[in-house]
Amino acid sequence: MTTTLKCAFCSGTGKDPFDLLSQFAHCLVCNGTGQVETEEPMKKCVFCSGTGRNPLGARISCIVCGGKGFNHCSCETKCTQCKGTGKSSDGLPCTRCSGKGLS
Ligand SMILES: [Zn+2]
Ligand SMILES: [Zn+2]
Ligand SMILES: [Zn+2]
Repeated sequence: MTTTLKCAFCSGTGKDPFDLLSQFAHCLVCNGTGQVETEEPMKKCVFCSGTGRNPLGARISCIVCGGKGFNHCSCETKCTQCKGTGKSSDGLPCTRCSGKGLS
């Protein structure tokens, strides 16, 4: 089952939030529609805190959720390696849970 969500990366505006190409450029995550589809069940992306933005500082979408702010994941248990943060000690996505924080 898929659910339609507001695109986290552009906050539903459909525009590139960082004006990378031009201020009229479409958001690359939702293709300018302002909405994204995610499969159920889903969990808020812990890696970007649901913002859809790469927490490492680059002006790109989150590498874990692809900018949606949510991950398709049916896991309920916190990942023991990253303790649910989704991050490794170097700031990259946890290798065990791929950054979802659950396993
Ligand atoms: Zn978008
Ligand atoms: Zn994310
Ligand atoms: Zn982990």
